[in-house]
Amino acid sequence: MNDTAKVIGAIVLIGLGVFFFRSGSAKIEQSQDFPDGTHWICLACKAEFAKSLDEVADWNSANPEKSIPCPKCSESRSVRASKCPLPECGRHFTGSMVEINGEVCCPICKKPVP
Ligand SMILES: [Zn+2]
Ligand SMILES: [Zn+2]
Repeated sequence: MNDTAKVIGAIVLIGLGVFFFRSGSAKIEQSQDFPDGTHWICLACKAEFAKSLDEVADWNSANPEKSIPCPKCSESRSVRASKCPLPECGRHFTGSMVEINGEVCCPICKKPVP
């Protein structure tokens, strides 16, 4: 292998690395963590609602000082929440999952989550 081949090889490797890094991180953001957008709880009326990542990004760039407005009471007093993945529960909650008998459980229905 001569020097030119080595340089070309290095450039190709860097290019592939950047490509995989970009596509990998975009995938995680879209599908793994937020399959149906982001979840919110309104502190004013306790409504639970979801917003897509695009809606949140649009709102944040237009209103950097305010949090997402509640669709029910229009107050900008919402906080990010997690959603229980169990279909019979599906409630939103702030904070993290709880551990019961060594299993990670939803803090509302107290059942182990998958
Ligand atoms: Zn509200
Ligand atoms: Zn639950």
